[in-house]
Amino acid sequence: MNRLRTLAICLLTCVATAQAAPAAKRTYDYYSAGKVDAPRAARTEGALMLLGGGDWPVPAFRWFVQKMGGGHLVILRASGEDDLQKDFLNEIGGATSVETLVFHDRAAASDPRVLKILGRADGIFIGGGDQSNYVRYFKGTPVNTLLDAHVRAGKPLGGTSAGLAILGAYSYGAMDGGSLLSTEAMPNPLGPGVTLVGDFLHLPHLEHVITDSHFAIRERWGRLITFVGRLATEQKDAGITGIGIDEKGALCVEPDGRARVYSIGRGFAWLVRPLRAPDVIAAAPLNFRGVPVIGIGEESEFNLVTMAVLRPAFRLEVNIVDGAFDAESLAALKRAALTPVAAAGGASGWALAIHGGAGVIERGDLTPQKEAAYRAGLNAALAAGQKVLASGGASLDAVEAAIRVLEDDPLFNAGRGAVFTADGRNELDASIMDGHTLKAGAVAGVTRTRNPISLARAVMEKSPHVMLAREGADQFSVEQGLPQAPPDYFRTEERWQQLLDWRRDHAAELDRTHSRGTVGAVAIDIKGHVAAGTSTGGMTGKRWGRIGDSPVIGAGTYAADGTCAVSATGSGEYFIRASAARQLCDRIAWHGEPVQSAASATIENIGNIGGDGGVIAMDGAGQIAFAMNSSGMYRGWVTSTRPAATAIYSNEKSP
Ligand code: ASP
Repeated sequence: MNRLRTLAICLLTCVATAQAAPAAKRTYDYYSAGKVDAPRAARTEGALMLLGGGDWPVPAFRWFVQKMGGGHLVILRASGEDDLQKDFLNEIGGATSVETLVFHDRAAASDPRVLKILGRADGIFIGGGDQSNYVRYFKGTPVNTLLDAHVRAGKPLGGTSAGLAILGAYSYGAMDGGSLLSTEAMPNPLGPGVTLVGDFLHLPHLEHVITDSHFAIRERWGRLITFVGRLATEQKDAGITGIGIDEKGALCVEPDGRARVYSIGRGFAWLVRPLRAPDVIAAAPLNFRGVPVIGIGEESEFNLVTMAVLRPAFRLEVNIVDGAFDAESLAALKRAALTPVAAAGGASGWALAIHGGAGVIERGDLTPQKEAAYRAGLNAALAAGQKVLASGGASLDAVEAAIRVLEDDPLFNAGRGAVFTADGRNELDASIMDGHTLKAGAVAGVTRTRNPISLARAVMEKSPHVMLAREGADQFSVEQGLPQAPPDYFRTEERWQQLLDWRRDHAAELDRTHSRGTVGAVAIDIKGHVAAGTSTGGMTGKRWGRIGDSPVIGAGTYAADGTCAVSATGSGEYFIRASAARQLCDRIAWHGEPVQSAASATIENIGNIGGDGGVIAMDGAGQIAFAMNSSGMYRGWVTSTRPAATAIYSNEKSP
């Protein structure tokens, strides 16, 4: 497949030409690449591709190229140059030629050459930008007629962002130059900012539809519902339907109206179809109660003829009261946006992130050999987790597998190589949580189990309890038949020296370096289930049966499907006081914070009370985040679409 694509790209770029119309009074620019005059490979189909305005989901474009019979693609724009054409050639390929027409005014839409280029197009794609330009330049022109005729003649048409906005029978035209916010639309549904346009394109299956893009990320629920409500009233058409597409999504519509979503990670099409007008629509705040909102995900089947959604990703009913969502509706919408993408025939992705402890790790602290050894350890753990996830295994198994590798590696402060207590012992803490069932298991102060993470899992699965400590946990481990090890197994000379240093220099203080090396993992599997785990020897010089955050569910570890998975490392006392892992997840679930800001804010919160360390986190769609306020954190990540990578220092690149 790749080879074919490379060949196609080469064929196209080798004969690429870029011609601009004469500089004086240019009404459009024209670019072309590939064999514009060659016959197309196969027959075309009158399909539609509705894109949300973000990165292009490659499978959706492949589908589109197939619908245009691998023929001639024409990209329409009202700004920019040939960059979309280049993106297409680099990322997609498979077309006989690609041409771009960049319109500068309405006159271009009657230019015979433009009409000729469009007339012979096998597929047309309308780029993003400012849709008011499309309205001004195309509406009522020969280009308008041609676009309608193109699909009726059985050829595909697609659009993204502004190019999506104009595909419906009705469009938000942004005619006042603005980009209306939901919080502006709902209080004033008849206001001057709600510039709706009709009688523009007349495409099959979109006769009652108004579209919107960048949907969940810009919280456009309110504005789309306002558009739908206003149109339902003014057009006296209760069937007016809003379709919002998330940035990472594409809705691909077959000629017969059957449609499916493709997405990069989590991206939905949001169907707003109240089948009635709002309670009140006047020069006053909108009141519209009980509006159904249905999520169409990769696993869903949608039909634009019947408007039926099979296997929806979510179904909600929301209320707009006096120009605003009530609190419950807004929270439900934000939660829905975080719904995990269920496996569509095993096509969904997986992801794994790990850490090997945070602390004072400055560049130059580690010899090149030691740094390489740490990275090798992280890579071995990633490989173990990847093996599970890539073969369709569960995130819980991947988390356990990755952590076991790090526990066995004497470099890390977990299992073998754990730090010493004040009286010279290794006492190990670990926990694991399954985001699917919300079950959890933890052990504290265990001394003989080779892999404490597996003991934590046994507590979760084989005991009625969540946390077992010290002798009892050791005894449970033996009863479960888990591999045992003598105390010497855990001891390394380096950790022993760290204890001696600690005794000499700052006994009675918390060891601020944390002796670097608690380990943890978070993962999402192809079914969309998340899991998290953490394992540690704690802190050098810990006393009196001290237990840190690592085995405390909600502090060092937490996982909940659709929300997030977290593993922490650092000065455990502070992570416990801040309920760090649960705090991070609640920021996502309750406030809809993106995972990276939730992780950073949690670490900031810990810093504010005097703590230091880091977290690895993953949201319900597998988006990975790292945050730390220490100078380093051993960390690594691998996903179904990205190769394994590691980082150590705080300013090193993370995903
Ligand atoms: N959080 C661990 C603890 O307090 C130590 C660490 O992560 O370095 O036990």
